Amino acid sequence: MLECCTLGTGGALPLPDRALSSLYVRVNGRSLLIDCGEGTQTGIRKLGWGFRCIDGLLITHYHGDHCSGVPGLLLSLDKAERRETFHIWGPVGLKRIIDGLRVIAPALSFPVELHELHGEGEEFSLIGLNITAFPVNHGIPCYGYRLHLPRQGAFQPEKARALGVPMAHWKDLQQGATVNGVQPEDVLGAPRQGVSLLYATDTRPVPEIVNHGQGVDLMFLEGMYGDETKRPQALKNRHMLFAEAAELARQAQPGQLVLTHFSNCIDDPEEYLPNARAIFPETYAAADGQCFVLQYPKE
Ligand SMILES: [Zn+2]
Ligand SMILES: [Zn+2]
Repeated sequence: MLECCTLGTGGALPLPDRALSSLYVRVNGRSLLIDCGEGTQTGIRKLGWGFRCIDGLLITHYHGDHCSGVPGLLLSLDKAERRETFHIWGPVGLKRIIDGLRVIAPALSFPVELHELHGEGEEFSLIGLNITAFPVNHGIPCYGYRLHLPRQGAFQPEKARALGVPMAHWKDLQQGATVNGVQPEDVLGAPRQGVSLLYATDTRPVPEIVNHGQGVDLMFLEGMYGDETKRPQALKNRHMLFAEAAELARQAQPGQLVLTHFSNCIDDPEEYLPNARAIFPETYAAADGQCFVLQYPKE
């Protein structure tokens, strides 16, 4: 199971009830964040899923609305007495940006490890998720992320019995341990379908979003501008209209499209939802503190 929460759904400027961009993702008690705008710490406190369990941060790009919350987050992790390494991924320039932000958070209780993304992006793992970073089109280096939670095959008791594994050790095998030379894959069936989500904001529509978003359970895209009257701004600032995000979803066919990163010129995103739903009916507008649960599909 994967759980996530849109801590902040504002784009560019925060509003009283709309903090800047951040998504909190939790799997088996470990967590990561995508983006960390101003207000992220407050959002985490309201959510109550904890600081110390946050193992890393994936930054889409270095506009302030996506990383202005980093020093406060690091200080909160320090207050929570984190000791383990904290990992940060982000586009080229990561060290300069984090060094700058850390001028006001220089001494921490844990090491920070930086992973700079280049060119076409890369694949890596964190908290049990297989993560793909891919470039989008925002005028400055900017990445979208696909998170996939794999699911191992079902345990086959008859195989364990045949290999002579005592029943008391079956759980160890299921949790990935080797027992008396028997490997987990010796007693598991074929891997089962996992769950996945895609997160891409601050971009014009690009085919990479469709390619990486094929059939994901949940697709988070930006809802920066609600209707056609804002097309000039969308083109100039390299953002998307609701309808453009919906067209990407129509092509990728996710379970749901969830819009986030709303311009402060949008009072109520729901008003503009028909513009997206005409193209992709399963479109929703996120709110700060909204939680989503991705369950493994039924067998
Ligand atoms: Zn932004
Ligand atoms: Zn931006």
